Amino acid sequence: MSNIEDFIPQHIRSMGRYVPGKTVRQAEQETGIRSIKLASNENPFGPSPMAIEAIQRAASEVNWYPDADSSELREAIAAHHAVPKDSVLLAAGSSSLLYIIGRTILGPGLNAVTSELSFITYPLVVQAAGATLVKVPMRDYRYDLDGILTAIDDNTRVVFLANPNNPTGTILSVDEIDRFLDRVPSHVMVVLDEAYSHFAEYFASERGVEYSHAIQQVLAGRNVIVLRTFSKAQGLAGIRLGYGIANPELIQYFARVKVVFSVSAIAEAAGLAAMRDGAHIHKTLHNNAEGAKFLTAKLTDMGLKVLPTSANFIYVDVGEDCVAVAKRLQAEGVIIRPLGGWGAKTAIRVSIGQPEENEQFVAAMKKVMLAETRAK
Ligand code: PMP
Repeated sequence: MSNIEDFIPQHIRSMGRYVPGKTVRQAEQETGIRSIKLASNENPFGPSPMAIEAIQRAASEVNWYPDADSSELREAIAAHHAVPKDSVLLAAGSSSLLYIIGRTILGPGLNAVTSELSFITYPLVVQAAGATLVKVPMRDYRYDLDGILTAIDDNTRVVFLANPNNPTGTILSVDEIDRFLDRVPSHVMVVLDEAYSHFAEYFASERGVEYSHAIQQVLAGRNVIVLRTFSKAQGLAGIRLGYGIANPELIQYFARVKVVFSVSAIAEAAGLAAMRDGAHIHKTLHNNAEGAKFLTAKLTDMGLKVLPTSANFIYVDVGEDCVAVAKRLQAEGVIIRPLGGWGAKTAIRVSIGQPEENEQFVAAMKKVMLAETRAK
């Protein structure tokens, strides 16, 4: 075969690519001005100081392969959620778990179902497995669970539900999920992707409602896989650490597919320390809830459509080409995520930052949106 393309099976040729948010360094190189990043839903306070210390301590031992099972952290997670240890699997971020699920359960001739305007990794995972993804339209910016049930056929094996959803920040209630699980056929595994669980739990407790009992659903023997990550509230996005909770037999298959040693000793040590630093998590969640109120009020005052968030970011319809708005914001030193790649051509997603960052974003929005109105 002379062309590289000839080596590549059709389902990989037609794959898209994950386009990450711009890094501060990239943006600063482009504009030459100091920038803040509110583009990838990271923790604005950085990692827990306890995690940094644990990383430094673990650094001197990286000549050794890590514990392939991450036993200590696995035990801590199992205890934290009151689940058996063998129902927990750690991986290099929940993205990695999504690929493990795809490679284990999906394949040619099979399909997965999710929603439009949901996490952009789902299509990649499904396509990499040679399966097809059915995307059901949203209803008023929320998952249409009835529509998803209708889209399920005999070849469906997985449903992906991000709760809260990225990029809309919207949430499915415990009742909605329970009703869905009661009706979903037994040949389908439901992935409840709870990457933003800490934030959602905080918002739910403010409202006096329950956020999720997905883990209880796993224990009750439902076909549910719960995904969690250390990337968000725990501020460890750069270290790559996440986990799944599911039926132990299923976890055992996932463990075969997982790349061996993909969770480093440094990641395990950082995760253990981050779990113990409740104060850092609380500070993050409190700041996030305050920032959500501030940003929602300011953007609504500007006449923009803002979705109510249960996560650490906000979906804003700017009413014009989102890429142009993102460029103008970048020129003001603020990196956000334009949502054209999700099919929302006039929407942006902004991560909730520290108070000064939120203020800088609002000031920049006022400037760039006003400049546009004047130019019209
Ligand atoms: N699921 C959702 C819904 C997300 O938004 C993200 C991160 N953007 C992830 C999973 C993956 O997170 P990580 O791989 O960092 O654990």
